Amino acid sequence: MREEELRQIQTERLFAVLNRVYKEVPFYRILFDKHSLNPEEFEKPEDLRSYPFTTRDDLRKNYPYNMFAVPLREVVRILPSAGTTGAPIVVGYTRNDIYTLAELNARTLKNLDITKEDFVMITFHRGLFASAFGIQSGAELIGASVIPTNLEDPVKTLRILLDYRVTTLICSPSFAIWLAETLLNSELNPNTFMLRRVILCGEPFSEAQREFIENTLKVKVYNVYAVTEVFGPSVASECKARQGLHFQEDHFYVEILNPDTLGPVKPGEIGEIVVTTLTKEALPLIRYRTGDLTSILPKPCPCGSPFLQTERILGRLDDLVLFRGVKFHPGQVELLIEQITKTKVLWQVLLWREEGVEKILLQIAPSESIFSDSFSEQERMRKEIEEKLYLEFGIPIPVKFVEASSLVKEGEAFKKIVDKR
Ligand SMILES: [Zn+2]
Repeated sequence: MREEELRQIQTERLFAVLNRVYKEVPFYRILFDKHSLNPEEFEKPEDLRSYPFTTRDDLRKNYPYNMFAVPLREVVRILPSAGTTGAPIVVGYTRNDIYTLAELNARTLKNLDITKEDFVMITFHRGLFASAFGIQSGAELIGASVIPTNLEDPVKTLRILLDYRVTTLICSPSFAIWLAETLLNSELNPNTFMLRRVILCGEPFSEAQREFIENTLKVKVYNVYAVTEVFGPSVASECKARQGLHFQEDHFYVEILNPDTLGPVKPGEIGEIVVTTLTKEALPLIRYRTGDLTSILPKPCPCGSPFLQTERILGRLDDLVLFRGVKFHPGQVELLIEQITKTKVLWQVLLWREEGVEKILLQIAPSESIFSDSFSEQERMRKEIEEKLYLEFGIPIPVKFVEASSLVKEGEAFKKIVDKR
């Protein structure tokens, strides 16, 4: 698909969806009227910028069925989602939505060379069942042999991987880490497994965690981004180049917006992912604010895809830190440290006030391999991190190497941000 072709598809589909929600969903009709918007006058994707956003709160207020754009008799699947914060929302699919979901997931899996020869084990705990459904339908459409489970037991999972000659495992990052740790402490030899790839979905993970899973399980790890409210695990995924997420832009119109100005960000700047569904029938969403943060990658991907490519999910909008007018996310800091140290290190940002002035310090507890380096090498690394932080955020953030014991803990975990302002 060429870029002009993609733009043409997006324009036509945006026109159609805006007009459809205006006609079928009272929530949108009232909202568009309030903003004096006539979807009949929509001409080009940029026109979408004058349209209002949809939030998770809107879905809660219209719970259960008031956001649906089709009569309930046309809805063939209904997925409740408790979400992480209280009030429930519900997501619906028509028969066509189910096909689209399967096709989009099949596309993701085919891009990773999964064929009907593969044995695909999908294991998600209950909270992620929406992701499980979507990926399962994609794998089945390809014709792979699918083993869906809801096991939360790494020992049993290892047994199945071995006995069923599973080639592809799809699960959450935390489960994959647990599995890798279990394998390390077992007598099993990872080379006797047929497992070639692990596809992670449901939570963000770091590059160091990816490396740990890859080295322990002897696999390649790929990242899939899911938004339950939008279409589950079909919105974006990595290709084989694994250089970031590709959004499936013929089915989702994606904007990466500055959380303050709500205008588009430049490549490299962090912004919120805002999605308009282009083909979803039961629950179309206009400019849905996901609350997830990422940044657009400036270079095109070697795979040649015309789709928007972004960094992995860097965190949630709710976790942004504001320091002297600059906003940054713990995930950005982590990514930058990992790129320089090439290992997993513990770190913590301290924020406090001295005579009314905001102060900041990044404390890093290096791994043993870094501590064994010469002092001058450590110093070089420390300076490099400071320089990169300055380039990234435009403010000086001093860096200090410390012992892990001096970092502040909350329960068992180290806090990323300690804000005493
Ligand atoms: Zn690519």
